[in-house]
Amino acid sequence: MEEIKEAESTEKKSLSFVEQIVLDDLKAGKNGGRLNTRFPPEPNGYLHIGHAKAICMDFGVAEKFGGTCNLRFDDTNPVKEDVEYVDSIREDIHWLGFDWGNREYYASDYFPQLFELACRLIKEGKAYVDDQTSEQIAEQKGTPTTPGTESPYRNRTPEENLDLFIRMNNGEFDEGARVLRAKIDMASSNMHFRDPIMYRIIKTPHHRTGTTWKVYPMYDFAHGQSDYFEGVTHSICTLEFVPHRPLYDYFVDELADETYRPRQIEFNRLNLTYTVMSKRKLLQLVKEGLVEGWDDPRMPTISGMRRRGFTPRSIRNFIERIGYTKYEALNSVSLLEHAVREDLNAIATRGMAVMNPVKVVITNYPEGQTEMVEMDNNPEDPTAGSHSMPFSREIYIEREDFMENPPKKFFRLAPDGEVRLKGAYIIKCTGVKKNENGEIEEIYCTYDPDSRSGLPGASRKVKGTLHWVSVPHAVDATARLYDRLFNVENPSAETERDFRELLNPDSLKIVEGIKVDPFIAENAKQGAKFQFQRIGYFTSDLSSTPEHLIFNRTIGLKDSWEKEQKK
Ligand code: ATP
Ligand code: MG
Repeated sequence: MEEIKEAESTEKKSLSFVEQIVLDDLKAGKNGGRLNTRFPPEPNGYLHIGHAKAICMDFGVAEKFGGTCNLRFDDTNPVKEDVEYVDSIREDIHWLGFDWGNREYYASDYFPQLFELACRLIKEGKAYVDDQTSEQIAEQKGTPTTPGTESPYRNRTPEENLDLFIRMNNGEFDEGARVLRAKIDMASSNMHFRDPIMYRIIKTPHHRTGTTWKVYPMYDFAHGQSDYFEGVTHSICTLEFVPHRPLYDYFVDELADETYRPRQIEFNRLNLTYTVMSKRKLLQLVKEGLVEGWDDPRMPTISGMRRRGFTPRSIRNFIERIGYTKYEALNSVSLLEHAVREDLNAIATRGMAVMNPVKVVITNYPEGQTEMVEMDNNPEDPTAGSHSMPFSREIYIEREDFMENPPKKFFRLAPDGEVRLKGAYIIKCTGVKKNENGEIEEIYCTYDPDSRSGLPGASRKVKGTLHWVSVPHAVDATARLYDRLFNVENPSAETERDFRELLNPDSLKIVEGIKVDPFIAENAKQGAKFQFQRIGYFTSDLSSTPEHLIFNRTIGLKDSWEKEQKK
């Protein structure tokens, strides 16, 4: 009994306010006990992490309570839309781990019904054709505290309106020459009720309906109706639609009855530090070549994050942690990075790579000899096994891991000092060779043959442990080191400067000639995830080939989230 109570209370605690509303509706038997949500992207760009938050809600709540979620492309503006976007949206939702089965819909599927409904509203005197320009209409809107002005065309007869609307759709008038408006109330305290535009003329062909239509419905007229036609019960969206909700309900009233009506619920959108989320701005970055495409690993797009090496689970964990509220917030990108690190720590294969190599010659190690040493694939995962790695007389270490005149607390390699080579021997520095510029070319060491794991000297303690790669076995690769795309914490809040001036000039550093262990090279199929020991998490890029290995740095090892929390 106690246990059940506890389960109920944790269940209750973990429900978001949206889930609670849905649950209450189900319990009250609304809509015949059906639950159907939808995710409604406009195919005018690639999905970003903000969309992932909406996807996790729309698909997640349906999954949780035994309902279904439709994928509906909100394709009501042919000028900005493209099939490339449709395809990428599908791929990204699947990658996040959600599926819409055969419930893939398009707002354009409803153009005939929407047109019919518009004609009905015209006949009932609830809509009229306005010949004014959009500027004139905007001027007459009024302000939240002063009423708007009625259009001189507002009292046309239904016959005249219907004739004009049909001719608008036949292509008789130019774009912008006329619009169809709902006849509601120019003095309403809700600005959205001041005769909102229902249809505008667009002559660009549509990617699905071609040149069939010359008039296209506006969001407010299309969305609720599409929800209704599809049988959607809960239309979950973001807070900026709160003031649209009365209009949503107004249009739905034209269709719904007591047995079924869709309901709009709003939650806070995701905003991230050091990130812009506006599709318009992201498109600009792509179009102007400021990034390498929608899937550039610095982009906040799902495809960019995938290419960078983020996992679906890390994104979903992050979204679960930030939760859903009714208040706008700015979330820290460090929390997302924390979630990525956490998941990669659990799944990434450990391997050795040297980013800035300097050669070490082990003078007492037999020339031409190679021995294999064992490395854990992942100490966090007892089932991950191990792999072997070649060790020989010449190895690479990081240049930064050697200092000729080290400060006191330098526990890496220095003259006469000892370090352990991870998984192999303890070495002692006996000298260096420099070039004419005084740069170190080679470091000379001796090794303690007794110090390898399994041998009597294995437990001998030295302060530092270095990663390394055997020179004759090393494979060259390119590393792309990514940093945040923007330099300022909240680029969208900047009013003085254009967002492009806020770009971080060091967001990408390309390092050629890193040295990776053959095990990494052999397993570096595109998308493979590694932890380069002591360096960070890396993922083989989409363009990586066995002949030219390219690794994206997904994230460094150091976590800034916990530090941020202590501030
Ligand atoms: P726009 O409408 O300006 O093109 P949008 O970002 O709203 O941009 P849509 O394709 O309309 O793009 O978005 C689809 C769904 O994703 C909508 O329900 C929207 O509310 C949701 N969404 C978009 N951005 C975010 C965000 N940052 N956080 C949470 N949900 C978002
Ligand atoms: Mg939108």
